[in-house]
Amino acid sequence: MERKKKMAKSKEITCSFCGRAKKDTLMLIAGDNAHICDQCVSQAKEILNEELDLRKSKSVQSALKLLKPIEIKDHLDQYVIGQDEAKKVLSVAVYNHYKRLSQKIDEDGIEIEKSNIIMVGKTGTGKTLLAKTIAKILNVPFSIVDATVLTEAGYVGEDVESILTRVLQSADYDVTAAEQGIVYIDEIDKIARKSDNPSITRDVSGEGVQQALLKILEGTIVNVPPQGGRKHPDQKMIPVNTSNILFICGGAFDGIEKRIAKRLRTQTVGYKMQTNGGMIDEDNLHKYLTPLDLKSFGLIPELIGRLPVITHLNPLDRDTLLNILTDPKNALIKQYQKIFEYENVKLEFDKEVFDFIVDKAMEFNLGARGLRAICEAIMLDAMYEMPSKKHKAMIDLQITLEYAQDKLMKSDIDKLKAA
Ligand code: ADP
Repeated sequence: MERKKKMAKSKEITCSFCGRAKKDTLMLIAGDNAHICDQCVSQAKEILNEELDLRKSKSVQSALKLLKPIEIKDHLDQYVIGQDEAKKVLSVAVYNHYKRLSQKIDEDGIEIEKSNIIMVGKTGTGKTLLAKTIAKILNVPFSIVDATVLTEAGYVGEDVESILTRVLQSADYDVTAAEQGIVYIDEIDKIARKSDNPSITRDVSGEGVQQALLKILEGTIVNVPPQGGRKHPDQKMIPVNTSNILFICGGAFDGIEKRIAKRLRTQTVGYKMQTNGGMIDEDNLHKYLTPLDLKSFGLIPELIGRLPVITHLNPLDRDTLLNILTDPKNALIKQYQKIFEYENVKLEFDKEVFDFIVDKAMEFNLGARGLRAICEAIMLDAMYEMPSKKHKAMIDLQITLEYAQDKLMKSDIDKLKAA
């Protein structure tokens, strides 16, 4: 009797969620005292995906709900010294970009276009730092790629798709998160074509790469090799939609001042000239930068068109370098003080030491990049010796000008001059 009942039951297996009989399903998966049919599994997966997408986009959206352009700039101010114009332009562009993501297309059909950014400024003026800081504030995946390694498909180097491998990796292969990330393409000036005239022969390192970048910058679905490169030919490609990825390009564009000056019909050196009733600031011609100058430098118009937001970074003067050394939240000097604090050492500097470091950085002409190298040279011996000296109580270490000069002289820092 008991057995009969059991057998009858097992014949009527149904989905515990929707009640479908086994015969009406493709598959019934058995669990502990329950079953689920293929259709319910698919439906559950959809619900789960929607929820996960919602949660991810919420993190950017909520950051943006809190942060308007002015607040984004306030945050940037804590990490990046000066460069007010660039910060303002970036804050607005980034705000609009993510606003665009949260907006459905209106009935009036107005769609806000993507606002990829190009930043022009000498090396070590904070281009990478700005892009990195923005990504940190918004808590989105961020990656840096170097345009110089990119080549056209079929040539030695990396395919442009590899740009997206990095952002996928920084999002832990979470495609939805990666699709809202920020990609910083450094040294974009190095893929300029060599002359203003379109070349007849193929320009492998330049124009071809620019062409290849167009679609990615604008927004397309790219099949991305998750391991990158061509070393793993068997890897399964991951489709990534680039429509909502914000691309920020940066480059030093060495010599662009001359092109700007030429356009302004003046010379970089020599006499002053007036435009639009104002004096041209010949020490900072970058501020007159327009898309025309980028074109004359060798970027193709289509690429410039996909980088509608243009901004420049100013060369760093003495005062700014001094600020960078001591002021930002993670200023170099604060970092050294922290390192020494771990060793029970209170590190202090004579004021003249800062002036000395800044003078040397100006001499090396590497922007803020030089500050780090100089500080390292000065602090190396102390950082080498201190950890072996066990201090029971906090001791003081005062870096004097003589000490700094002596350490720097003995280092091989002069190689920086040649750089
Ligand atoms: P680049 O313009 O070449 O991309 P980076 O952003 O990589 O320059 O800056 C190089 C170093 O100098 C970084 O360590 C960065 O922290 C520091 N730095 C450069 N410019 C600034 C700035 N305006 N404010 C604060 N730190 C800066």
